[in-house]
Formats: sequence, structure tokens, C-alpha cells
Amino acid sequence: MARRGLMLTAATLAVMAGTPSAAQEAPSVTAAAATQPSARNEANQAVIVADPALAEGGVVVGTAGMDGLDVFSLAGERLLTVPAGEAVSVDVRHDVDLAGGNGTLLVTSDVATQTLRFWTIADGALTEVGAAGESLGYAVEGVCFARDPRDGALYVVGVGDGGEIDQRLVYADGEGGIATRPARRLALPSSLKFCVADDRTGDLYVAEEAVGLWRFPSDPEAEAIPELIDAVGLGRVTEELGGLALMDGGEGARHLIASDASSGQLFVYDREADHAFVGAVTPTGPQGEAIAEPGGLSAVGQALGGALSNGALVVTDEDAEGGANYKLIPVSTLLGAVDRPVGQPQPLTAAAPERMPAVTARIETAPVAGYGDAADDPAIWVNAANPAASLVIGTDKTGGLYLYDMQGQVVQHLTDGKMNNVDVRDGVSLGGEEIVLVAASNRTDKSIAMYRLDTEARRLVNIADGPQPTDQGDPYGMCLYQDAEGGTFVFINDSNGEKRQWRVVDAGNSRVRTERVRDFAFSSQVEGCVADDETGVLYVAEEDVGLWRLSAAPDGGMGMESVQAIADNPALKDDLEGVAIYDLGGGRGYIVVSSQGNDSYAVYRREGDQAYLGSFVVVADGPGGIDGISETDGLEVTSRNLGPGFEHGAMIAQDGRNLLPNARQNFKYVSWTDIARALDLEVRR
Ligand code: CA
Ligand code: CA
Ligand code: CA
Ligand code: CA
Ligand code: CA
Repeated sequence: MARRGLMLTAATLAVMAGTPSAAQEAPSVTAAAATQPSARNEANQAVIVADPALAEGGVVVGTAGMDGLDVFSLAGERLLTVPAGEAVSVDVRHDVDLAGGNGTLLVTSDVATQTLRFWTIADGALTEVGAAGESLGYAVEGVCFARDPRDGALYVVGVGDGGEIDQRLVYADGEGGIATRPARRLALPSSLKFCVADDRTGDLYVAEEAVGLWRFPSDPEAEAIPELIDAVGLGRVTEELGGLALMDGGEGARHLIASDASSGQLFVYDREADHAFVGAVTPTGPQGEAIAEPGGLSAVGQALGGALSNGALVVTDEDAEGGANYKLIPVSTLLGAVDRPVGQPQPLTAAAPERMPAVTARIETAPVAGYGDAADDPAIWVNAANPAASLVIGTDKTGGLYLYDMQGQVVQHLTDGKMNNVDVRDGVSLGGEEIVLVAASNRTDKSIAMYRLDTEARRLVNIADGPQPTDQGDPYGMCLYQDAEGGTFVFINDSNGEKRQWRVVDAGNSRVRTERVRDFAFSSQVEGCVADDETGVLYVAEEDVGLWRLSAAPDGGMGMESVQAIADNPALKDDLEGVAIYDLGGGRGYIVVSSQGNDSYAVYRREGDQAYLGSFVVVADGPGGIDGISETDGLEVTSRNLGPGFEHGAMIAQDGRNLLPNARQNFKYVSWTDIARALDLEVRR
């Protein structure tokens, strides 16, 4: 994928071209309630924790600096104060998987210790869950939860004074506490004070105080392209950006609110119209008193009592007369002032979006040496005598081949060239011996690289009788085929779609050569391929088009049939990449294809008309510490025993983003037992 830089939306450009500020015309919106002052006269951000079990429908939990957290009634009465270090930011999620069932979880940032602290809340009482943990190692300011719509995983994002965006996977630690693991680190150049995320859309918004308002995908496996929504100077923001809040009234009524702190205004953006600016309001207290610098914000769309029947926006007023406090502005008042629809009160927990069945990886390999998009394609050599000692061969397309063991450790690293795809076959005869042949497409010298796997020494040994030229400008996809007569063939294609078939021949000197036997072509780029040795069928993924089947025989001709076009299955999204076969025996089994564009894997029946059976995703495993798999290029599948955890085989797939924490790319091992359970498939017995 081409790397894109800063993305400016139509809305941003319109903002930048338009009048910079609407200072005079912002109508006043009056708060329905204000809280009592924080005891220490410090306030930075508060959230409403909706709770239908409470008479008022919820409580306000506000940060109180060195005092920790204040809990207020919705009428503003301070009910209790809980020590929480020096708390400056807070967020909440309902229906979180906690020890002892689902519950409501809060997170606060403690700037004294640079830690995140987690709390459960029931009947308005806060209980800290788990230890605060180690220092984050940066000056944390804002904190927000982000649930990944792709898999439901809960993340917490800390933003820092040095521009840090630190995303961590949150999980129940099994001992009643909450634990986190660093998932990814992003950075902006200057101080960040607040963030907010939408679990429905996967949008993460970050306020860079002196620069502007940014949006990123919250899915850590997605490419983090920042989108500028509004900016200081060039855009509408006067001087400094304050808090952010999302007001969700359902379809047609989804808004983003940002505090333009120095003008004392709140800006409203229409999230369903590319964040178009729809107006500004001037928030005031219940008696119409001005809020000099509206700070941290939050909003709920649940029905609360009285005037807050469509939810409320909580505005921090650090300079309130009598002491810093929080003001509650009805959503209906705020949106009415800018002529926007209020929508409907929202349920406490939004219905989970429909998701593909999910599995986790059991093992991940050490990262490859190459930076960027480097790892590409795996192959598996099964050690039938000692399955746990099987080996995985993986390519680094920036410079080599790896042999990994079943724990993902590097056994051998060969820097023989830019190896794109790799495949392996047992029982290839060479000089009267049966060898394990490993072939790879080498883009450095445009050749077919050929190795013998020395299974005793666990080493790849070059056996090419000199470089085996492909006569192609850019050799790319590659796979091996072994026919019923014992012939071994290499399929290799140019990045323009021209594919060639070569026969592997004994050169008579313990080395091998290749002889060209067939040329054919696809109309656009192909890469992933697999030959079914038993049925003589070659499957090829045409990246933007679909999956094809054709004869793998050297005299098989040019005829091909479509297994499935991308356009005919909404579960597929281009590019289609790696293809592999799960063998159930007797010609039965499954075909697995990487649907790279939506980070998923499609499964087809091997026999008959190759019916589509379903798709799955591979998601992060918090306790296990292995991230999910995204943007897979190559993959390999086997139904044979690969040792403990992989008794019924595995899918091994390249991962485009190696996280938990950020690292260079690698390969993940997924147990077929897990895939079979998720999609109700068979395992080989
Ligand atoms: Ca890639
Ligand atoms: Ca392969
Ligand atoms: Ca590709
Ligand atoms: Ca990953
Ligand atoms: Ca990882």
C-alpha cells in the first residue's frame, strides 16, 4: 500500500478557506446544573456515569487534582471524594468483561505517578481494581477508552504533554484486577491534553492543544493516517484547543464537540457530514454566568432525569466563582442552539456490531530484520517423526529467508536476496535420494532460489545449479506442485500477471535446474497461489479480482474457472493474497484465502464446487500478549500434527503490523483447532 501523509478532508479545507471565527454569533446555552466546587479548587474533566439503578439515572465523577476523584449527584451535590493520586482525566465504559461478570469500568490518569488507574463503580461507589502499575514513562495528561469495533477488544489511550499517543490493550488479569499491555505508540509534535473515541466507528479524536483536532483509526492494526479536522490559526480554533466530547443521538444526530478554550466557546461538528462545522455556542452556568475557559468535556447520550432526557454535556469550569466545578448542559439545549437534530436517547450499551468469528494466535515469531513491509510468505515443513520439531520457513522481502522453530525462534537466517514467496515439498528425488525442496522467488537476481532442507542439521542448503533465471522483470508470487508421476514444478509470476511453470530437474551434480514448460497470464496482478497435489488443481488469487482454479499440469492449457469474485462476496475485500489448503484426506478439505483489505481469512470447501463457508479474523490475546493479524500477504496451512497446541495443524500467516508492542513484522501461528471451533469446521483425525 502506498504511504499517504497528512490527509485534509473537504470539510477541513472548507474551514480553512472560510471565516476564521464566529466569535460574535455564538448563542448562549445555559447549564441545567452545576456541581459544588471541588474541595481543592481543581477541576479538569468529569464524566457522567449513567446508571438506571440510581434514582437520578447516574452520577458525575470529576477529577479533583491532588484530591483525587469527586463523585457528585446529577443535581451537583458532592457525595464523596476518593483518593486517586493527582487525577486530571477520566473516562468510562459500561459492560466491560471484569472478574465476576460484566460491569462499569473507569480509567483515570494520575499525573503525580504517571500511571493509569482503573476503577469499578456500583451504586455511585468507586473501587480501585488492580495496582496502578509502573510509570508510563511520559507526562500523561488525557485518557480515553476505545473499543475496537472489529473485535470488541478494549483499549485505553493515554495522551501526553510531549505529544505521546500510547494505546494499551486492557484485559482482566484473572486475579480480579485489570491489566494492560502496550499495543502501539503514535506521536504528534506537541502537547496533547484530551482524547475521545467512538466504539461504533473506531474513530479516535485527539486534541493537540496548540495545533488542532485530529482523527485516527482506533484499531491499532489499521494504518494510523491522521486526519486534521480543525486547526489553530488556519482553521477556526482561536488559540488553544480544550476538551473533546462525542454526542451520539443515533443516526442523523452524531456530533463532535470541541472546546475553543480562549474564546469561551464550544464548536459543534457534524460527524455524519465529514465533520463539517455546524456552529458554535457559548456555554454558561445555570444563572447565565460566563465560563471563562471551558476545559475538559464529556458527553452521554443516555436519558437522564429532568432536562437531561437526551443526555448531557459536562463542561469543566476551572474559574467558576466559589471554586472550580462542572456544568451540565442538556444535549437538547446545545443542539437546539445550532439548529441540529437531537436524535434519540441511547441505550447504556450500544448493540455490538456484527463481527466475524475471531480466534487468537498461539505463537508469534521473532521479528524479521527488515523494516517496514518486509515479512511476506511462510511455508511449513512437517517433521512427521517429531511434530514439535517441525520448521517454518518465512521470507523477508527486503533481504532473506528465515527458518523458525515451533516456538517462533530463529533457527537460521539466510541473506540470499529479496525473497518474496516461498514453498516446500517433501520427497523430491535428487541423485537417487529423496530430499525436502524449498524454493523461493528471489527479486534481487530475478531467479528461482532452490534449497535442500537438511532436516538433521536444521539448515537450508543452496542446491541451485547456478542462478535459475525466471526471464521475468519482477518475479513475485510463487508456489510448488508435485504431480502423481513424481514431477515437481515451480509456478512463478511477474508482478504484471504473467505466470510461468517450470519443471525442477536433477542437474546430475547434486544440484537442480528448472526447465520452462508453460506460460499463461492473468489480466492483472496475482501473487498468492497453491497447488493441490492430489487433485492437480492450481488456485491463484488475482489481487483485485478474485480466486481462480485451473489445471496445474504442464499441458493443462489456459482454461480457468472463477472460484469466487471479490465483487460477489461482501466478506471479501481486495487485495486477495495468500492461498492455502487444509487437507482432510480423500480429496476433502478447505481452501483458506487472505482477504487483506478487511484483515480476514475466507474459507472455501476444497471439494465439489468450492462453496464459501465463512470468514474469520485473528485478534489480540491480552493475557497471552500476542497481537492480532492484519494486512496478511502470505499464509500457509497444514492439517498435519505440528506438536503441542497444533495437533490438528495450523494456519501460519504474515502480520502486517506487529504490535503489543510495536515491532518489525513477523509471522503468527494459529491453531487449526481454534479456527475449526470458530467456524464449525472439521479437523483432520
Ligand atoms: Ca504487505
Ligand atoms: Ca508460501
Ligand atoms: Ca500482493
Ligand atoms: Ca498484528
Ligand atoms: Ca507482537
